[in-house]
Amino acid sequence: MDSVGVAAAAPDAGPGPAWQSKCPWGAPSTTSISCSLADVMSEQLAKELQLEEERTAFPEVVAAAEGPFITGENIDTSSDLMLAQMLQMEFDREYDAQLRREEKKINGDSKVSISFENYRKVHPYDSDSSEDEVDWQDTRHDPYRADKPTTTPRRGFIGKGKDITTKHDEVVCGRKNTARMENFAPEFQVGDGIGMDLKLSNQVFNALKQHAYSEERRSARLHEKKEHSTAEKAVDPKTRLLLYKMVNSGMLETITGCISTGKESVVFHAYGGNATEDKVIPPECAIKVFKTTLNEFKNRDKYIKDDYRFKDRFSKLNPRKIIRMWAEKEMHNLTRMQNAGIPCPQVVILKKHVLVMSFIGQDQVPAPKLKDVTLSNEDMKKAYYQILNMMQQLYRECNLVHADLSEYNMLWHDGKVWLIDVSQSVEPTHPHGLEFLFRDCRNVSQFFQKGGVAEALNERELFNAVSGLNITADNEVDFQAEIEALEKMNEDHVQNHGKKLSMFPSDGDPPIYDE
Ligand code: ADP
Ligand code: MN
Repeated sequence: MDSVGVAAAAPDAGPGPAWQSKCPWGAPSTTSISCSLADVMSEQLAKELQLEEERTAFPEVVAAAEGPFITGENIDTSSDLMLAQMLQMEFDREYDAQLRREEKKINGDSKVSISFENYRKVHPYDSDSSEDEVDWQDTRHDPYRADKPTTTPRRGFIGKGKDITTKHDEVVCGRKNTARMENFAPEFQVGDGIGMDLKLSNQVFNALKQHAYSEERRSARLHEKKEHSTAEKAVDPKTRLLLYKMVNSGMLETITGCISTGKESVVFHAYGGNATEDKVIPPECAIKVFKTTLNEFKNRDKYIKDDYRFKDRFSKLNPRKIIRMWAEKEMHNLTRMQNAGIPCPQVVILKKHVLVMSFIGQDQVPAPKLKDVTLSNEDMKKAYYQILNMMQQLYRECNLVHADLSEYNMLWHDGKVWLIDVSQSVEPTHPHGLEFLFRDCRNVSQFFQKGGVAEALNERELFNAVSGLNITADNEVDFQAEIEALEKMNEDHVQNHGKKLSMFPSDGDPPIYDE
């Protein structure tokens, strides 16, 4: 396991691209440790000297190296549970790999094959229960798991009389040394020795141990700088476990870093991993982590509380579940948009409060927001008509109002505008849906009018064009009042009939504006 905690330890991963070696969460490099035993032995003196030197230079890392699998960097050691779970997962993965090898060996070319599938510890995309806890660990006793070599108990001897065996017994000691290899960092390849009755002499073991530890320190030093700067500290241990699990299952190849840290969410970039039968993973993904600190979400109540899709559930939910609902809402809304053909991120998977979607951008560089990009007059006009069209599609085909539409939530990519950030989007019949739409229209109109698009409708015209409603008020205040009156009418109707009115005009669909 990489000290950073989130990395696919795919045993057959070839040498990765350059970013991988720089990435704190990248797959551990396997090439750097292909040192033969002979090399280790001959370099022993040099190593000892180096060890001494490093002990002075990196005291804390050396201390941490005493614990199994931890290089003392980047892991939040305050969470013992998390550490334990991560370690367990690492064990499980290695175990599964071994299982796969055995399966292959047994089946050979035979037409009838047996499967160890049910004995695997880590199942790709294993579905979560709805519980809060991360709970994939399988504690079943496994008949295929080789017992660890026996070692002597603490008192230092076993047996009686002439059969007494002390801890200094050569065989026992050798076994013990073999078992101790488990304590080396996981990227340190120790072969299958641990599961076998292999006896390592003290001398060999010590040489290996020293080599393993100095490798760890070397790699820790390599990673030191960037690890302090990564935003993975921005997520809590539970979230990190979810992310770790996504990488571990092979769904994601690597999580490379943070794209954005907002008040309500943190967005990471990741390279997609392996496809499964039912899922193709995009080559690059964006991971939106909805923050589980609740404060920022309080003022968003009005978006979701009155959204009838979530109404029944809202009252019964605890705050953590409400945050998951934001993620769920974003997923549903993106799916609707995708179905309507609106350019937007494609949903890959939702796990609790973590939404994985396709990445808009390329080579880790996210597409610029409309507010940050300078477009030619021609592109600006093109973008305007495209947005007008998308707003209409969103309203008519997806039955949605974006509710946070502005140059901040539109990306310019591949010569067109992509809509993002739709967790707060609501249906037009939401008690404030039309007000939200009007606000969206105001943002869009102002942006394009300032941007020199002479054809840009003003906010009231745009509102009517999108909604198909025909509000005639010629000033902002009256217009707003009419919107609120409509919303109230709808609410009254709901009160009396328990059903929402359609916000579409009865005499046909609104006209679709196009270039
Ligand atoms: P919020 O604004 O609520 O924090 P957003 O969904 O707007 O969350 O995401 C924040 C930022 O992350 C966006 O402005 C954008 O730069 C980036 N981002 C989000 N989703 C993607 C994506 N799918 N592809 C590329 N960049 C994204
Ligand atoms: Mn946003």
